[in-house]
Formats: sequence, structure tokens, C-alpha cells
Amino acid sequence: MLRQLLEILLEIFENNKTILKEKGWIVSSKTSYEWWDGLKSEEEIIISAILVQMSRWEIVKNKVEEMRNKGLTDFYKLYNTSEEELYSVLKGINFYKTKVKRLINISKIVVDLGTIEKFYDRNLLLSIDGIGQETADSILLFAGHKPNFPPSEYGKRVLSRVLGTSIKKKDEVKRMVEENLEPDVYKYKLLHAGIVTVGRAFCFTKKPKCEDCILKKVCKYYGENSL
Ligand code: SF4
Repeated sequence: MLRQLLEILLEIFENNKTILKEKGWIVSSKTSYEWWDGLKSEEEIIISAILVQMSRWEIVKNKVEEMRNKGLTDFYKLYNTSEEELYSVLKGINFYKTKVKRLINISKIVVDLGTIEKFYDRNLLLSIDGIGQETADSILLFAGHKPNFPPSEYGKRVLSRVLGTSIKKKDEVKRMVEENLEPDVYKYKLLHAGIVTVGRAFCFTKKPKCEDCILKKVCKYYGENSL
């Protein structure tokens, strides 16, 4: 039942790529990095995942492009860059000084590991300052192409309403998806991108825009409140 619903959601998201794109999700191949608004590399996704916390995506994207142009999205170069130089690049992002320290720490970890592939270890990620569950799973899925579904507030709200139930914790969303969908990286990416898009575009906490929502035909909340 839940598996069927998740497959239906995937079909709806597949048919609404334009709306996902408007919200910054570029539906691409399983191993593309472009899902995150056209980013170019796994390093850029890891850096963005740290910078975007409590910051606006538009600002973060500009800063990542600036880092790319200066060669600072290479972890070896990042590790050998001073905090002061990074401050001057990332000033304007919320908590940029803390985030600079976190980025330098991450670059050191990757350099010490010798290969970025070893970085895609959930326990390792969760032990790093500034990386919580949602960030860890986002990095694993979108940078490492590992089938880990990111728990999110959007997932909790959207799936609660679609299913007509009350999902209490973000973790439950992760568990529900991973227990009911085969570990397919493309499907996990598309489902996460679609759910976040619906959460940002239609499914607001107060006064959701159900009439415009791409999920209204399968949404229990809409079915029960649209008369
Ligand atoms: S139809 Fe309404 S309640 Fe259901 S997912 Fe869309 S916006 Fe949310």
C-alpha cells in the first residue's frame, strides 16, 4: 500500500520536472551532481550542504560559484586556504565564520582519508561537527550516490497530509521510505526532490495551496478538506 503510493508519487514528480526545476531541483541521471540546482561536483554538494544550513539557497549558490571560480571547491586547496581568505569569500552567509571552520575541518578529514569515497560513511559523517542526520543523508545520496533517504521537515509534513496520518518524527519518514522502496538512488533522489518541492511550493504549514498542488489527487488531507 505505502509502496504503491510512493511509486505513484514518483510518477507524479517525474511528470512535473518543470515545477521541481523552478524550486532548484534538476532531475538528471542517477549519478549526476546537477540535481542540486546544477552544481558540478560532489565537493560542491558537500560544501553547499554545510553552507545552506539556516541560510538562503540563492546566496549559497552564488558563494559556491565564487568558490568554484577561485578553485576552492577542491578539498586539497580548501585545506591549504586560510580562514581569513575564506571569510572574505563567504561573508554574507549566516554564521559564515563557524561554517568556514567546519569546511576546513571537512577538507582535512577528506585529505587525511586519502580518497573522498571513504568520506561516504554515515557514522563518520554523523561524528563531524555541523553534520546532522538530514545533512549526512543528503551528502550520502546526492554527493555519494548512496541510497540513504534524507529525513526532513518537508517529508514529515507532506507525507503526513498525503497519508492522512500524523508522522511524529523526521526519522519515521526515512524509515518508511527505506523499508518500502528498493534502494534505488534515482528514485530516492526524485522522491526527496519532489517532496521538498511540494513542501516549498504548496504544502505550507498554514494555509496549504492544495488547489494548485501536484499531489492533490492522491492527498487524503485534500480529499477530506476540499468539500
Ligand atoms: S494537496 Fe494540500 S495538503 Fe496535500 S500535499 Fe498538496 S498542499 Fe499538502
